[in-house]
Amino acid sequence: MAHVLIIGAGISGLSVAEFLREHHQVTVLEAGPEPGGKVRSEHVDGFTFDRAANGWLDNEPAMQRLLERLNLGQQLIQGPVGDPRYVVHQGQMVALPSKPQGLVGSPLLSIGAKLRLIWELFAPGFDGEESIGQFMRRRIGPQPTERLVQPFVTGIYAGDVDHLSMQACFPVLKELESKHGSLWRAVRKQGRPIPGRLTSLRGGSGELGQALAARNTVLFNHRAIEISHNQGQWTVVSDQGTHHADALVLAGPGHAMAQLQGLDPTLAGTMGAIPYAPVAVVCQGLPKDGWAPPKGFGVLVPKAEKLGILGTLFSSSIFPSRAPADGIILRTLVGGALFPRQAALESDALLEIVRRDNAKLLGPLPKPRVTRVYKHARAIPQYTLGHTGRVAAVREASQAHPGLFVTGNHLDGVAVKSCASAGEKLAGAVIDYLQGQHLCDSPFASRTPLTD
Ligand SMILES: Cc1cc2nc3c(=O)[nH]c(=O)nc-3n(C[C@H](O)[C@H](O)[C@H](O)COP(=O)(O)OP(=O)(O)OC[C@H]3O[C@@H](n4cnc5c(N)ncnc54)[C@H](O)[C@@H]3O)c2cc1C
Repeated sequence: MAHVLIIGAGISGLSVAEFLREHHQVTVLEAGPEPGGKVRSEHVDGFTFDRAANGWLDNEPAMQRLLERLNLGQQLIQGPVGDPRYVVHQGQMVALPSKPQGLVGSPLLSIGAKLRLIWELFAPGFDGEESIGQFMRRRIGPQPTERLVQPFVTGIYAGDVDHLSMQACFPVLKELESKHGSLWRAVRKQGRPIPGRLTSLRGGSGELGQALAARNTVLFNHRAIEISHNQGQWTVVSDQGTHHADALVLAGPGHAMAQLQGLDPTLAGTMGAIPYAPVAVVCQGLPKDGWAPPKGFGVLVPKAEKLGILGTLFSSSIFPSRAPADGIILRTLVGGALFPRQAALESDALLEIVRRDNAKLLGPLPKPRVTRVYKHARAIPQYTLGHTGRVAAVREASQAHPGLFVTGNHLDGVAVKSCASAGEKLAGAVIDYLQGQHLCDSPFASRTPLTD
């Protein structure tokens, strides 16, 4: 059995380990004391707070295969179907229509903007790379872009539509445009994609990393510092010692992997150039005290509304097991690429902003029983213009080093399910590579294959 070293026990690295485990001996080096990376949870006085991701969508087959391996049974929980999501409009929460046709009667857009939506059928195409903002303004007009698309993009990337690449963030929409010439026409011909259902674990999303780490060999508090390659062997020096392997997978954040001594300078330069948006996650455990948020998932805030928060999730409405029977959890995000300085404020200041803005939207709130603020200085990688070129450069540079592989949310998708899918694919590539190596090392390798 060959030995594979993986750097980083986030969902990306642990997925690779899980899909490799029957094939090779695998060791994961993790800088911190816990598995899961961004997907971790904390239990405080009966409340379960997710530090970053609170779940994943169940429409990715690789994610489903990963979960099946873990056999989590009753631990798996799903969010409600059909409950409204809100956006702020002129200071008020307005429910998003569940279908695009619902926009006709919605106060979210002016009559002019609604008529402009119909013109999408005739909007001109564009072949080159453009930002999400450029694409959306060209196709559906400025008002839906500011009032609907920007908050939606905030919800996924905590990003700015004017900097993120359409091709890198939403490649399927870009393809539908080139195939059908219009998004409306694409929906008419292909139907709307089936939305995934939000899924998580009873004891918090952090149980995902815990379950994966329980089945795989993870060395915690082992920060990788230097890598080198000699005669088919990879060596990693960590702050705890030296480790050898036949293949090496870099699965930590791009900015952290770029710091590894001995890494190919093109890889280091390209991964180090991928920007990240900071986010502060403010969790409040409130007593019910006769108060409850409106039925729904939560509310997102368009930039023009000039609030200090990006949005609030009604976490215990989505997953009631996150709070005690007499409690409610509100989880508010602050900062992102639009307001990066806000994310770095002191915890007290963040709490004050969050309490003030939530009260504006939801009315006076009960005094929280417990609060937690989780600050992520580099929360989510930003797939800015040129990202697809950077990903291609990372692939090309890593292929020049036999046995070196790179994955992580900075490359092929920031969602948890995308990390699982990339992890499964990468495990396949590692298996193929090691099989090839084995054949090369075998005494029969130099013989003419019998099938020729
Ligand atoms: C606030 C927030 C909310 C989110 N919400 C959702 C959501 O609801 N749904 C969803 O699908 N996604 C969500 N995401 C995105 C998702 O959580 C992440 O994209 C994903 O978990 C990233 O996984 P990863 O393994 O690629 O990276 P990470 O989680 O960053 O893990 C990388 C690991 O590498 C380790 N490491 C770094 N350097 C070294 C080193 N030198 N040696 C050893 N180890 C090292 C780190 O300690 C870390 O454990 C959210 C993200 C944030 C920040």
